[in-house]
Amino acid sequence: MNHFHYRDGVLHAEDVSLDRLAAEVGTPFYCYSTATLERHFRVLQDAVADLDATICFAVKANSNIAVIRTLGVLGAGADVVSEGELRRALAAGIPPERIVFSGVGKTRRELELAVDTGILQINVESEPELEALNAVALSRGKRAVVGLRVNPDVDANTHAKITTGRKENKFGIEWTRAPQVLRHARTLPGIELASIASHIGSQLTDLQPFRDAFRRLRDLIVMLRADGIAPPRLDLGGGLGVPYDERPAPSPADYAAVIRQNLGDLGCRLILEPGRMLVGNAGVLVSRVIYVKDGATRSFVVCDAAMNDLIRPAMYDAYHEILPVAQAAPDAARHPVDVVGPICESGDTFARQRALPPLAKDDLIVFGTAGAYGATMSSTYNSRPLVPEVLVKGDHFAVVRARPTYDEMLALESLPTWL
Ligand SMILES: *Cc1c(COP(=O)(O)O)cnc(C)c1O
Repeated sequence: MNHFHYRDGVLHAEDVSLDRLAAEVGTPFYCYSTATLERHFRVLQDAVADLDATICFAVKANSNIAVIRTLGVLGAGADVVSEGELRRALAAGIPPERIVFSGVGKTRRELELAVDTGILQINVESEPELEALNAVALSRGKRAVVGLRVNPDVDANTHAKITTGRKENKFGIEWTRAPQVLRHARTLPGIELASIASHIGSQLTDLQPFRDAFRRLRDLIVMLRADGIAPPRLDLGGGLGVPYDERPAPSPADYAAVIRQNLGDLGCRLILEPGRMLVGNAGVLVSRVIYVKDGATRSFVVCDAAMNDLIRPAMYDAYHEILPVAQAAPDAARHPVDVVGPICESGDTFARQRALPPLAKDDLIVFGTAGAYGATMSSTYNSRPLVPEVLVKGDHFAVVRARPTYDEMLALESLPTWL
């Protein structure tokens, strides 16, 4: 469900036509819909209304401060994985008491900032990190509020690069060692053990891995309680998938039912860290066709967006729907084409042999479901400026991230004296 629809033959974001936006902002650019962001947040909020859950948006999926704030005013907290993201969450107005800091390699400086800011919880992923955080907290005369991330060793059945909950992955404390580490954590004077945390992967389109992980968390909590350790919270991570093609993803209500069935009676407060499911369908990448190149065996549509702007197809073999901004006639013939960017890498390919209606030079196209891990994973490869981000609300729009100028891009570099 999203708010990108054809109206009078032109694709709109809510009430703003994308060809008008392209004329004002220039291509390529990301466009986000406020109505879709709000809808996704509310659907999840309603699904878990009976569960005493705090929804902490995983900022790495889309870290634009306007997006974070749109969710924040509805009550979302933030799950951050770096100092930069923590600063973004705070700049967007997320109260510290709704911020969770995750990540396998937090530096001392990041731990200090987290302790000084007084956030809801710092998720610790290893024993050395636990010791480091204990030392940081004591040096400041404080106790750090900690979630211990355990690795439940379940297969999330998703792309290998976004699987995080198997024992061979770098994340979390091994399932079998968790009780020992938890007992040790309790003895550290700078540590207040507030939560067990887990996150098994991203773009899960099947609920069974969640069920498996939640059962293991449940067993762990029951065992700890028998030992007199009772962390009041459980952090269930993110990972719920979104539909990129016709295949449906599990609904937030079904996901909530799995939580309720497996953990609902424990009396723990819950933290959820959804990223993709809140923002994925709320964004598109708009691009212009530069050339259509008809070869002997294949036709290529060369557009002005490239793998540096949206890396998911190159990195995860991801599928993104491609739509022309000018609606194709219902009877228009569809022919298989390769849609590619201008970068000299064969991986700079958005779609191979995709059946699309006829496209010509200067036509606008959009890549759908690009709101998550799109702009945040972009780079300046080939010295291409990061593309602007535009947020639409009804018939209003705002450029919420400007395209840098070439001078700005060059300004951080300098020549050494010997040149
Ligand atoms: C990436 C990440 C998330 C969000 O994952 P989604 O698949 O976008 O929901 C949540 N928690 C942690 C710890 C993460 O690393």
